[in-house]
Amino acid sequence: MPDTPRRPASRPRRPTEKSSSPPSPQGKPGALRADEGLGQERLQKVLAARGIASRRAAEEIIKAGRVKVNGRVVREMGVKVDPERDNILVDNKQLARPRMRYIILHKPSGYITTTSDERGRWTVMELVDVQERIVPVGRLDRDTEGLLLMTNDGEVAHRVMHPRYGIQKEYHALVSPLPDREAVRALGAGVELRDEWGQSERTAPAKVSLLPVKHGEQWIRIVISEGRKRQVRRMLEAVGCEVQKLVRVRLGPLVLTGIPKGAWRELTPGERRELFVALKIADPEMPTEERE
Ligand code: URA
Repeated sequence: MPDTPRRPASRPRRPTEKSSSPPSPQGKPGALRADEGLGQERLQKVLAARGIASRRAAEEIIKAGRVKVNGRVVREMGVKVDPERDNILVDNKQLARPRMRYIILHKPSGYITTTSDERGRWTVMELVDVQERIVPVGRLDRDTEGLLLMTNDGEVAHRVMHPRYGIQKEYHALVSPLPDREAVRALGAGVELRDEWGQSERTAPAKVSLLPVKHGEQWIRIVISEGRKRQVRRMLEAVGCEVQKLVRVRLGPLVLTGIPKGAWRELTPGERRELFVALKIADPEMPTEERE
């Protein structure tokens, strides 16, 4: 993997230093409007990057009037801030720069991929124990095992899931019956899947192959770059194969090797660097809100 160009991590500016953005209108009365332009970063993106909530949930928090910038409530979308200079409060609490966490969990079956479940089912959150507000990146079905990335870095989560970055997901599946040559070809070329509204959509080309027989079992390998709901199971069902076991073994450059089922660990610095390269994030040391 090529090394990424580095630049010094940014630091808070001293009051005497010059800034390219206009001075923040401290203490102005009334709600802060989008056209007042304090900085370059959308407020909801800053909140997501600081682990407050997803971008969408951050919009709701803003609409509810729970966010203040330089003492003024923000309710409007489109307000841009300078996270280094502006004083941002959520529910009257200062936005702190959190420690960024990047965790690989070997998800066992029986856990659902969500942060909370109103039906009281076991969630993946019960398997990891970190203080920061991490969330699972993407989704593995309850019965699917394997590699699940969890982070409080909203930008990394966004890019892993966004098709523009083409992050590959590799699955190993035990199916019955085994797909024949024509089915393997069809899976590779793309199959029609019907969504929940009955609309038919074709999957993008996938890499499909048979793995060597192990312990008398013949597994198949499927590599996709999309992330539709239950995509691998639905692709296999579309060619007449029922999935008995499904394991995600790779997400972009990250592999599951060496992590026991149910265990988790932090990404190594090398893995983190490789992930950032794959996500086209130029500098791993750069604070998340400055990456774009
Ligand atoms: N595809 C599926 O069908 N299930 C998963 O959990 C992940 C991908």
